[in-house]
Amino acid sequence: MIKKILIANRGEIAVRIIRACAEAGITSVAIYADADRHALHVKKADEAHNIGPESIAGYLNAHRIVNLAVATGCDALHPGYGFLSENPLLAEICQQRQIRFIGPDADVIRRMGNKVEARRAMQAAGIPVVPGSDGNLGSLEEAVALAGNIGYPVMLKATSGGGGRGIRRCNNETELRRYYDRVLSEATKAFGSADIFLEKCIDRPRHIEVQILADRHGNTVHLFERDCSIQRRHQKLIEIAPSPQINEQQRQWLGTMAVRAARAVTYENAGTVEFLLDADGSFYFMEMNTRIQVEHTITENITGIDIVREQIRIASGLPLSYAQHEISLRGYAMELRINAEDPKNDFLPSFGRITRYFAPGGPGVRTDAAIYTGYEIPPYYDSMCAKLTVWALTWPELLNRASRALQDTGVYGVRTTIPYYLELLKVPAFRAGDFDTGFVEDHPELVRYTTSRPTRELTAALAAAVSAHLGL
Ligand code: ADP
Ligand code: ADP
Ligand code: MG
Repeated sequence: MIKKILIANRGEIAVRIIRACAEAGITSVAIYADADRHALHVKKADEAHNIGPESIAGYLNAHRIVNLAVATGCDALHPGYGFLSENPLLAEICQQRQIRFIGPDADVIRRMGNKVEARRAMQAAGIPVVPGSDGNLGSLEEAVALAGNIGYPVMLKATSGGGGRGIRRCNNETELRRYYDRVLSEATKAFGSADIFLEKCIDRPRHIEVQILADRHGNTVHLFERDCSIQRRHQKLIEIAPSPQINEQQRQWLGTMAVRAARAVTYENAGTVEFLLDADGSFYFMEMNTRIQVEHTITENITGIDIVREQIRIASGLPLSYAQHEISLRGYAMELRINAEDPKNDFLPSFGRITRYFAPGGPGVRTDAAIYTGYEIPPYYDSMCAKLTVWALTWPELLNRASRALQDTGVYGVRTTIPYYLELLKVPAFRAGDFDTGFVEDHPELVRYTTSRPTRELTAALAAAVSAHLGL
């Protein structure tokens, strides 16, 4: 059994994993770069170890981190998301050093991290994939010829890409010629591989993904879908489970396909199979994420299953706690990513000191945050500083509860996406459950309507000053 876990991550996901450890009676070990000396995960873990002055590289040094796990007597390592979570090297080193890696096998991570290989594996398993190139593109001329066959618009994608980067829509041949080299160099710079491929651009796509869990004993289950269509620049902002845009028959089909996808690659642990749904109602496999996902909280809300706990159980060699027929969904859940960004200034990151913070409360509200009053958000990392997850029995109640919980949240000192979400929640199409991945771009007015929180404080201060001046 696992007794002590090193968490090779930071921020809210490190805190999330520490909480799972605490509930299971497992000792948690945090790591932190100098810039994270005052981070919440350092305070919450049972032990915390400094990994030096390099703010990002420190969290990417697989050898050093596993050494630390061995030296501190850990028997397992949780990679979280981002950083090394999808780097097969970490899983491999863990195996060599007899540290249980809480995730799938290194080979599966490697295969699914390569989008071209993942597409091939899914095609072989009879799962529909987005029409596109069979392998990596050899040249611009090959891309032009292929796009001519598939039909524009097409997507150029980095084969090893992630985090919404290395993706470019090309509406015609001129754009394909213009962007080819750009995507190539972006792929090389961001992912260390110049491999790129081409896909048909799905019309009015909805991003629908399925959470799966698989153990070592041949049990694979799905935990229904999440609708992640509310995105900005291919990055998720709001996620919803179950999707208000699909019916029960589609739900069953998707679950079956996701389980089939996992089985096809002999998957173990928690994973996500991402699909695109087009305007005609067809689903296409897009990619598989071999790690815990940011938005796992909404699935936990509708199913009642603690996914991180299951991850740890699976890595311990235990069978899944639930058979498929024991898993059901109840109500609706929505996660809103509270990013330290200024919506009015093109979502520019807004790092700095959190002068005041109140977590929201009340029925159906969950916060996963990495901030506290007085905390200074370092400028080196992701701008997501908290996640708000809201649950309600019905979709209309969920909408009202999400607005209420956002208004109930207090994050001062930095700009956040909260006021933007308050506007978004008012849009009739969103309320009607009708939105695709173009929603944010199609609603530029939301940014104009957005009033920022500091303004509210300023207004109060101005009102007080005016009152004083008038002798009121
Ligand atoms: P999720 O589906 O869990 O929301 P994201 O795509 O938002 O996943 O990724 C979660 C985090 O991991 C983000 O900080 C993102 O920038 C980072 N990330 C994901 N894939 C990669 C990758 N291949 N390389 C570097 N960072 C990545
Ligand atoms: P990442 O690894 O960065 O998450 P994905 O392949 O999952 O990359 O794509 C991220 C997002 O880009 C999707 O959620 C979707 O909004 C958009 N996208 C990707 N491929 C296509 C496509 N073929 N057609 C339309 N949109 C796409
Ligand atoms: Mg993706």
